Amino acid sequence: MAKNKISEKPKVAFFDFACCEGCQLQIANLGETLLDVLGAVDVVEFREVMSEKWDKDYDVVFIEGSIGDKHAEERLKKIRERAKVLVAYGSCAALGGVNGMKNGFEIDEIRRYVYGDKYSYFDSKPTKAVDQVVKVDYYIYGCPVYLPEVVEVIKCILKGVAYSVPDKPVCAECKLNENVCLYDKGVVCLGPWTKAGCNSWCTSNGNICYGCRGLVSNPAKNQANDIIKKYNVNEKIKVLGEELMKKKIEMYNKAKEVK
Ligand code: SF4
Ligand code: SF4
Ligand code: SF4
Repeated sequence: MAKNKISEKPKVAFFDFACCEGCQLQIANLGETLLDVLGAVDVVEFREVMSEKWDKDYDVVFIEGSIGDKHAEERLKKIRERAKVLVAYGSCAALGGVNGMKNGFEIDEIRRYVYGDKYSYFDSKPTKAVDQVVKVDYYIYGCPVYLPEVVEVIKCILKGVAYSVPDKPVCAECKLNENVCLYDKGVVCLGPWTKAGCNSWCTSNGNICYGCRGLVSNPAKNQANDIIKKYNVNEKIKVLGEELMKKKIEMYNKAKEVK
C-alpha cells in the first residue's frame, strides 16, 4: 500500500508503455461513474484524451503496458520518483501480459524479425512487468481491466487503504454465476489456475478463461484440485498436449520468469 498521503483532490496521470491502450479505453466506458471519479480527482496528464503536461509531482499514476527496452525503464523510473502512488494498470503492466511472449525467443531474433537488417539501431529487451522495474502500490489485472474492479481500486486509493486482489480461482466466481463448466463440454479452460476478480467475465459469456489475470498463488490448495479430479484435466492435457497447455498459460504469464 502507498505510504505517502495523497492530496484531498489528487493529481492523477495516465501513462502508457508497450500495450494496445485497451485498458485506458476502458476508462471511457465508465460512463456516469467516470463523472463521479473525475469530480474526486484532478486528471493532469492523459495522452489519449488531453495534450496538457504536468511538471510537478503526481499523487497517483496509472501505468499501462509492459516494459521492453532501456528507454522505457528510464522513463518509468522517472515517473516513479514523482509519484506518491503507482498503479500497475492492466495485465501488460501487472504481469507483462501478451508482450511477454517475446521472452520465449532470442532477443536478436525478435529484433531482426521486426526491424529487418537495421535491427541494431532499435533497442529491445525481454519484456518486464512494471514491478520488475519499480515498486508498485496497487495492481489491477485483466486484459482488459474489469471496470467494477477499477472503481473498487480507485475508491481504496482515495481512502488510502490497501486493495487485495482476489487470490482464488476464476472457477469460484464462475460457479456463483451458475455457469455450466466448460470441461463438461470437453473444452479446456484456465479458470482453475487463474486469479478471480473479473466475475468470470469470459466464461459467463461463452468463452474460455485465457488466464489474463495471472496465476493464483497456490492452485493445488483450492478448487483447482476439485476441477482437475472431477473433470480428469490431466488426461485432457495429455490429449491436448502439455506443450500447448503451457503455451496457453504463458500467453499472459511468461514475463514473470524474467529476473
Ligand atoms: S492488458 Fe490487454 S487490453 Fe490492456 S493494454 Fe495490455 S493488451 Fe491491451
Ligand atoms: S474450469 Fe472454467 S468453465 Fe469450469 S468452472 Fe472453472 S472457470 Fe468455469
Ligand atoms: S475469465 Fe479469465 S481470461 Fe476472462 S477476464 Fe477473467 S481472468 Fe481474464
